[in-house]
Amino acid sequence: MTAIEISGRTYKYEARVGSRLLDQAGPTIAEVLRRHRCALICDTNIAPIFSERVLRSLTSAKFQATLITIPAGEESKSLEQVAAICDEMIDAGLDRQSFVIGLGGGVIGDISGFVAAIFQRGIPHVQIPTTLLAMVDSSIGGKSGVNTSAGKNLLGAIHQPSLVIDDVDLLQTLPPRELRQGFAEIIKHAIIADAAMFQELDGLKPSSLLGKQLAPLVKRNIEIKAGIVAKDEREETGARAILNFGHTIGHAIERAGNYKMLGHGDAISLGMMAAADISMKRAGLPKKERDAIVDLLRRFELPTKLPNEFSREQIFDAVTHDKKFESGAVRFVVTPKIGSAFLSSDVTLEDIREAINALGDNNR
Ligand code: ADP
Ligand code: ZN
Repeated sequence: MTAIEISGRTYKYEARVGSRLLDQAGPTIAEVLRRHRCALICDTNIAPIFSERVLRSLTSAKFQATLITIPAGEESKSLEQVAAICDEMIDAGLDRQSFVIGLGGGVIGDISGFVAAIFQRGIPHVQIPTTLLAMVDSSIGGKSGVNTSAGKNLLGAIHQPSLVIDDVDLLQTLPPRELRQGFAEIIKHAIIADAAMFQELDGLKPSSLLGKQLAPLVKRNIEIKAGIVAKDEREETGARAILNFGHTIGHAIERAGNYKMLGHGDAISLGMMAAADISMKRAGLPKKERDAIVDLLRRFELPTKLPNEFSREQIFDAVTHDKKFESGAVRFVVTPKIGSAFLSSDVTLEDIREAINALGDNNR
């Protein structure tokens, strides 16, 4: 097990990464929190696989835990579900001295974090991510929230966790499709901040990356994300914006597909393809490096061709409705060279349209 210390101006906590950590969750949390009652929040897929072990470990460490299970799926990320969880917590006698544990993927991390942020004006949050995506991305950075009928993540709060426990053994039951979604964010981190990791990934077979070998990779990605977040926790200076590489067009693709056709990582894979093309045109990214990005995405079985069912017009419309474009000015994350990225004002809507149109091209 390795402990990564994550800190910013106003927070400091640890992410513990390794194998066989789940059965130690109780004693590990006891090192950090001197509180007794907690809510363990998970979804209907996670509860039968992992909740017993966590509950047993919590009990062994003298915690009094209430298990709250919500339906699996993005639909659960709603204000109604938040209210239902809070009601259950109040009924179970939880109060200001209690804390929340989120055991699950990004959905559970986001909703449990939001509950922790608002319950009794805020109580501590412990994250136990169960997806690769949540381990390397969403559990780090303090973003929490829910969707509304008008869009995704429109309500939320920044609430940093008190502890993150990343047990890579939990990834063994994760369907390959879900594993792939996490690799998309790992490749993003390599492109924007770590050329050496890009090289290493390039020499790997994804199928060989199982079990213990994942721990060093998870650790490295947490460090990358935490380092960027620490510079700009509340997205005020623009430093955090580079994490949106591939996401402007990626989000638009997700939206055009009604969030059902493609996973988040699949959509940002396509978004990164487009961003690489735009980077070639506007930031001097060498063609060789752009091709290396496409090859790496393919190797991790991420899509590099837009499925035929998608309307390019709809994707472009979704881009222009992105809240980041509200002011009228286009700000777009580009990479001049693998391992670095910046927010550019040189990109035009026409560049974006052109890159979206090129996404269907088979033989590029
Ligand atoms: P993310 O946003 O992190 O990609 P989600 O919260 O949307 O993840 O979870 C993706 C799906 O995988 C959900 O149906 C969830 O219940 C399921 N899931 C999460 N972790 C595991 C796991 N370790 N084993 C099996 N299924 C899992
Ligand atoms: Zn993402």
